[in-house]
Amino acid sequence: MRSETMNIHAGERMDRAYGAISPPVYMTSTFAFDDIGKTKGYDYSRTSNPTRKILEDTMAQLEGGKAGFAFATGMAAETTVLHLLKTGDHVICGDDVYGGTYRLLENVMRHFGIETTFLRLDNRRKIEEAIRPNTRMLWLETPSNPLLNITDIEMTVDVAKKHKLLTVIDNTFATPYFQRPIDLGVDLVVHSTTKYLNGHCDVVGGAVITTTKELTERVQYLLNAMGTCASPFDCWLVLRGIETLHLRMNHHEHNAFAVAEYLSRNPAVKKVYYPGLASHSGHEIARRQMKGFGGMVSFELKGGQEAAYSFLRKITLFILAESLGGPTSLASHPATMTHASMPKEHREKCCITDGLVRLSVGLENTEDILDDLRQALG
Ligand SMILES: *Cc1c(COP(=O)(O)O)cnc(C)c1O
Repeated sequence: MRSETMNIHAGERMDRAYGAISPPVYMTSTFAFDDIGKTKGYDYSRTSNPTRKILEDTMAQLEGGKAGFAFATGMAAETTVLHLLKTGDHVICGDDVYGGTYRLLENVMRHFGIETTFLRLDNRRKIEEAIRPNTRMLWLETPSNPLLNITDIEMTVDVAKKHKLLTVIDNTFATPYFQRPIDLGVDLVVHSTTKYLNGHCDVVGGAVITTTKELTERVQYLLNAMGTCASPFDCWLVLRGIETLHLRMNHHEHNAFAVAEYLSRNPAVKKVYYPGLASHSGHEIARRQMKGFGGMVSFELKGGQEAAYSFLRKITLFILAESLGGPTSLASHPATMTHASMPKEHREKCCITDGLVRLSVGLENTEDILDDLRQALG
């Protein structure tokens, strides 16, 4: 099956009882045993649930992995994956990852004796220099949030494999429709399904896709032990979203390209971050490892914070809000919103300035989107 068909047919969606085309939502905490020690495959919904299983199998198939797991949120997925580590382990992580990932590693996992080095993963030697005897995991996010930096997945995986590090990629921005990191050697993929996979701003969810039997058993064990799993109804919503993933991603990209090109020509704009632009530093790598460039565009205004605030107060179609990946165009101010938990020095070091605006370009008419930007920047 090709990607678009998989979005609609992956997993065992057909209902065996009545032939329902839309998969049933098994809203049940527990399942009857046929006899002592004998079930129909399910015993308790924390451990596994038939609706969740369809989403999990779908995610595994879309990413080309061994197994998938669905979590209550993207952060629940990340927290679970980080519990593959133990006290004394060291992590190397990209320096401009999602603010919540930074917060989890720096303000939570550190208290459990897991230390993280944050650095730009753009150079083999730099990564190798950061590796310590106790380094176990390499965490990357590409395209990154909010600057859409592109990391060369193959190069990073190559370094990690040489040093026997587990590679984890946050594939939220690209989705498996535009990027399949497991094909490039990554060990674990994490997602916030809250974003493009669900795609309708009506659920929070996460996913993990594994590549080996050992990782599959370990993640299943942790999910059950930690209770970080997703509810059946949320899984159903994400599954419904995935059916139109390809249509949505293509249109998000179409609109994002128009926005990026418009902003590049606007004199009030200092810099545009969109990997689809030839001027973007990661453009060539993105072309090699991605099938599309996605729907996120960030830009820095010449007028700094004041100009950014003015823009965000003037927009009318775009809504000032966190999150991304839904049909509605959203605008956010990373410095005070998604990345507020990152210390200012760290933020500035990786160019998340006070004049930076992040756009989640939605599915509205392209001209209406551009009209709103024109009036808000004018
Ligand atoms: C939103 C997001 C997360 C966190 O996911 P939640 O569902 O909000 O918990 C992680 N990574 C990226 C790239 C995100 O955009």
